[in-house]
Amino acid sequence: MQKNDKLERRPRRRVLIVDDEIIDRQLLKAIVSRKYEVLCAESGEEALETIRSQPLSLVLLDLIMPGMNGYEVLRAIRKDPALRQLPVIVLTAEKDAEVETLRLGATDFIPKPFYMPEVILARIDRSIELAEDKLIISGAETDPLTGLYKQDFFLHYARQLDRFEPDLPMDAVVLNVNRFHLVNELYGRAFGDSLLREIGSILRRLVQGTPGLAGRTASDTFVLYLPHREDYEASLLAPLAAAGGAPGRARATVRVGIYPLAAKSADLEQRLDRANLACSRLRGNYATACAYYDTSTHEEELREERLISGMETALQERQFRVFYQPKYLIQGSRPVLASAEALIRWFHPERGMIPPASFIPLFEQNGLISRLDHYVWREVAEQIRAWKDRYDFSVPVSVNVSRVDLFDPGLEDTLREVLDACGLEPSEYLLEITESSYTDHAEQLVETVRRLRALGFQVEMDDFGTGYSSLNMLTALPIDTLKLDMGFIRNIASSPKDLRMVELMLDLAKFLAVPVVAEGVETEEQYRLLKNAGCELIQGYYFSRPVPPEEFALLIEKELKERESDAQNGADQTGRNESC
Ligand code: C2E
Ligand code: CA
Ligand code: CA
Repeated sequence: MQKNDKLERRPRRRVLIVDDEIIDRQLLKAIVSRKYEVLCAESGEEALETIRSQPLSLVLLDLIMPGMNGYEVLRAIRKDPALRQLPVIVLTAEKDAEVETLRLGATDFIPKPFYMPEVILARIDRSIELAEDKLIISGAETDPLTGLYKQDFFLHYARQLDRFEPDLPMDAVVLNVNRFHLVNELYGRAFGDSLLREIGSILRRLVQGTPGLAGRTASDTFVLYLPHREDYEASLLAPLAAAGGAPGRARATVRVGIYPLAAKSADLEQRLDRANLACSRLRGNYATACAYYDTSTHEEELREERLISGMETALQERQFRVFYQPKYLIQGSRPVLASAEALIRWFHPERGMIPPASFIPLFEQNGLISRLDHYVWREVAEQIRAWKDRYDFSVPVSVNVSRVDLFDPGLEDTLREVLDACGLEPSEYLLEITESSYTDHAEQLVETVRRLRALGFQVEMDDFGTGYSSLNMLTALPIDTLKLDMGFIRNIASSPKDLRMVELMLDLAKFLAVPVVAEGVETEEQYRLLKNAGCELIQGYYFSRPVPPEEFALLIEKELKERESDAQNGADQTGRNESC
């Protein structure tokens, strides 16, 4: 029953007639077009071109033609894996040809001259039905878990729909389960599967009774191509938000990207890409939510595309510059310069200074970030070397390590090479790894970090408090410093609750025996509160913004002078330890 529903909703099927005789073509066309859309080809060559350029339900093929004959066409169809399933009925006046053509893979045979139109139509119907049944039986068309179309078939039917309903306004929609691998890992595959099935039935319900189509194109990616509607909040988001719940489990959530009134001038894949782009903008947002693709998204996409394509030139022309922001030890009698963080800036010839937040996430998506990070790492090593030579003073510098870098098997070698080239020790180099990297790929990452630390690198957990580390996980993590995310610091002066939160985190860090860097400290008051609460290290505008190396050199010079005068006065010159 379900099958018939589906067949009826499909657009009219398309049949190709291949015959060099105009009379035969016209005769057959008159019969077939009663029920099917008909295309005609006059030669074998033209036939193959048509067959390869569009989806067809059946070919009626004359055997005897000048040039490429029917046998050759048939052979070519059967040799092509993409066309192998296409039913072909052979037309010929020669009785003897029957066996040969069936052997070559013809589905059936219609004798010439054509009479009894009903019989001809019945044979065509039967061949098409058989071929479609075969596809369905082989399970090739739908995904067994959700019953939705697999990618190829989804695209195929969506294209047909466009062809037959060119004026119907359509929406392209892409859905993705947030952190699906975690859902599987935490709650088991059976739960993951039932979640996917649940999503599948919500999508099926949405397109039921419409010409719309629903598909599953990857493990946790779903697509819809359906007549335009305005009620996605109620018809899609609400049921999705209610799905995937089970007692004692966090609810799984879904992000949805919608390209409404998708422009048919763009090809189908492009339209789905745009929905996908809107969807990917919700990454990092962990509630069930939807985003729309619109012209501003498009402009942003273009801007981003230009940044991506401009990166290589920018590297060559040294448009990227590394800035340094100091970190100070604050528990001694005066703040002591302990280390710095390297932060990249892009000085674009047309757009001026571009902050990293505008391009780092972009480069992270496509892997370009590794190129850029490696560049930064080399620049930083050279800079540390230069300062060491000039001041006989080593400022350890921390570099940001993207999660993409962490899965690069050559990571350790790259870092070693960078240091060796400048004659530096791993202890002079700190690595900042953001907390969410740990929670996403815990085991593999912990292993990598362990190896890096064994080589002598110090590892700081960046943006601490924004990820999902459990206490359990924290105690098992191999890290040297926690970097408290600046979101926690922002309101400590005005909100006692926020201050209490920071104090709790500092207690936690004490329990784990790791020092804490507070990031984003902007005011004297924040500084004082953190100092009283026992925070060891501070980074923020209160001391200095990230500055170019020439300016950072002044901070080094100031530090050296103070050390000198401390030594002369015999004062307690430093904080609790020399480096962080
Ligand atoms: P992050 O690693 O959390 O870096 C700290 C950010 O806080 C920096 O922003 C810094 O300028 C800013 N900041 C420092 N003190 C204060 C303060 O007192 N108040 C406020 N409001 N902000 C402060 P920036 O330089 O814009 O960098 C943003 C993010 O870009 C960084 O966040 C980091 O995730 C990424 N990033 C920067 N450089 C690199 C790099 O070379 N490689 C990679 N992979 N990521 C980088
Ligand atoms: Ca950082
Ligand atoms: Ca941070």
